[in-house]
Amino acid sequence: MPSNSRIFIVEDERRIARFLQIELEHEGFETATESNGKRAFERIIQENYSLVLLDVMLPEMDGITICRKVRELSDIPIIMLTAKDDIDDKVQGLDVGADDYMTKPFAVPELLARIRVALRKHSEHGDNNESNENNLRYIVKDLVLFPERFEAQVKGKPIELTKKEYSLLEYLVKNKRNVLTRDQILQTVWGYDYLGDTNVVDVYIRYLRTKIDDRFGEKYIHTVRGVGYVIKE
Ligand code: CA
Repeated sequence: MPSNSRIFIVEDERRIARFLQIELEHEGFETATESNGKRAFERIIQENYSLVLLDVMLPEMDGITICRKVRELSDIPIIMLTAKDDIDDKVQGLDVGADDYMTKPFAVPELLARIRVALRKHSEHGDNNESNENNLRYIVKDLVLFPERFEAQVKGKPIELTKKEYSLLEYLVKNKRNVLTRDQILQTVWGYDYLGDTNVVDVYIRYLRTKIDDRFGEKYIHTVRGVGYVIKE
């Protein structure tokens, strides 16, 4: 077992989360906890964990949905924590790609054994797994950017972007919720010495809208009249 394994504990019952944290840290794992489902999904994608312990009943996004959405992007090992004897949760969890499940309440030695098995299986899959890379990702709703590959996906589907389109999208996503002026966009994406028309920004925004908003039927890029553009969550 790698000594630097980081376990992400997604559990809204503080008592259980704390208990797991103490037990896992005692075994030499690093841990982090999250009680909100929506934030948990974002953190699984954005941060670098070795394995996720995922409760099913969570506020804002349930564990089954989280697991399904994570599987579109990553093969990080996931062990579902299900309520006692809830067969549906177990079946659904495995259906959406969980590696294993534990029924609450569970014995710690069994959980540790299952964590080790899941980590070992994962590392045997090869060391070029995405979730092992220490790569930054940016995320807005179903849109995920992979800066190291200049790639964007919506719901796991890749979007064909030119380098310039990608740069513009990344700048908007990195500054999500902040309105960016055409001048700011020009300076950052095209560079200070760009001598062309500021209309180029509008043209590229239109390309992005065609490829993302129109194709996936969801509005990401908003125009703020007289100011510029913003990506909203
Ligand atoms: Ca719960």
